[in-house]
Amino acid sequence: MPDCIIVGGGVIGLLTARQLFLEGLDVLLLEKGPLGGESSWAGGGIVSPLYPWQYSDAVNVLAERSKKIYPHTQKTLFDETGNDCELINSGLFTVTDNQQEITDWAKTWSVDARFISDNKTIHEIESSVGKVVDKGIWMPDILQIRNPKFVKALKASFVHNVIPYHEYCEVEEIITNNNKVSGVRTKQQTLLADKVIIASGAWSAQFAVTESSVDVQPVKGQMIMYKGEPGLVKRMVLSEGHYVIPRKDGRILAGSTLEKIGFDKSTSPAALAELHQAAVELIPLLEHLSIERQWAGLRPGTEQGIPYICQHDEIAGLYIHAGHFRNGIVLGAASAELMADIILARQPWCDSSPYAMQMPH
Ligand SMILES: Cc1cc2nc3c(=O)[nH]c(=O)nc-3n(C[C@H](O)[C@H](O)[C@H](O)COP(=O)(O)OP(=O)(O)OC[C@H]3O[C@@H](n4cnc5c(N)ncnc54)[C@H](O)[C@@H]3O)c2cc1C
Repeated sequence: MPDCIIVGGGVIGLLTARQLFLEGLDVLLLEKGPLGGESSWAGGGIVSPLYPWQYSDAVNVLAERSKKIYPHTQKTLFDETGNDCELINSGLFTVTDNQQEITDWAKTWSVDARFISDNKTIHEIESSVGKVVDKGIWMPDILQIRNPKFVKALKASFVHNVIPYHEYCEVEEIITNNNKVSGVRTKQQTLLADKVIIASGAWSAQFAVTESSVDVQPVKGQMIMYKGEPGLVKRMVLSEGHYVIPRKDGRILAGSTLEKIGFDKSTSPAALAELHQAAVELIPLLEHLSIERQWAGLRPGTEQGIPYICQHDEIAGLYIHAGHFRNGIVLGAASAELMADIILARQPWCDSSPYAMQMPH
């Protein structure tokens, strides 16, 4: 019988289970598909919220901590498994004229954020940008991670450390007795544990254990990928919610849509056209590259983008770790540390109250 069952093998479940295991807990992670096959595979991997100054402190405190953790995580995963998750420092240029608010935010969080409005400097940062990139904030320290490689490295770390997990194992029910968790029921069997963590991404509201439940909704994001050459585009560029992310091997991602239409992962020609048009405005040379792939993922959406990292209000032993919305990668590492503090009943590294069930998310 494990100490703790984790339901969901996206980055949130993977990072949490790994952290708890490395701290000595017997864990078992259950995933209904392949590990990391949903939103965590589909995302862009920018290690910063888009427009972080628009988010609450509850989001920024996790983001800033994660930024510091990821280089260590990447190194450990590489040393353990030989898998490179391509954590690279490509920096992010955000088109905006909102200088004052950003300057205040950057000072509060000690982020290097430089307002730039002259064409020459902008082109020195990224020579391929189009006319719409005429002023904005340059943040040279923003990292990106390559999602499919990250989840692959995490999976390899599970194998390396012999962390127990089952793929293609859907949890159908969380078993409770007298307001206390006692395990989960899957199609195949009943598995007992005194602690269960719901880390089921966009599906986290499916477990109706009590009337009060988590408010997490699927928000579809579509993405396209161009086949380019290494170095053709060097920096991440963002304008009006559309962004371009150059990967190490020359591939270039352009995202993303925000669609609240339930559990639907289909892709559409309209989204492809929208993403392509916005990407070409940012980086005109993309007009001449072929689009290699289009995909969609379901973000675990919450109203304000603040995740649940907490014990369930009414059920002892049940925990929620979900609702990271657009920022599951950037918040994930710090969020897993906080969840581990809560599970292990030790002093949390930050104030955990904003992530409790009764708070607005
Ligand atoms: C297009 C797009 C772009 C994005 N860009 C970024 C970005 O640049 N930076 C960033 O930080 N974030 C980004 N995100 C968001 C980020 O990907 C998510 O916040 C993150 O992946 C959420 O991780 P998760 O583990 O909670 O969810 P998921 O990765 O969805 O994992 C949840 C897992 O739970 C499993 N599950 C569900 N129900 C059950 C069950 N009953 N039994 C067993 N398993 C179950 C699912 O199969 C799934 O694998 C983006 C997302 C998308 C879609």
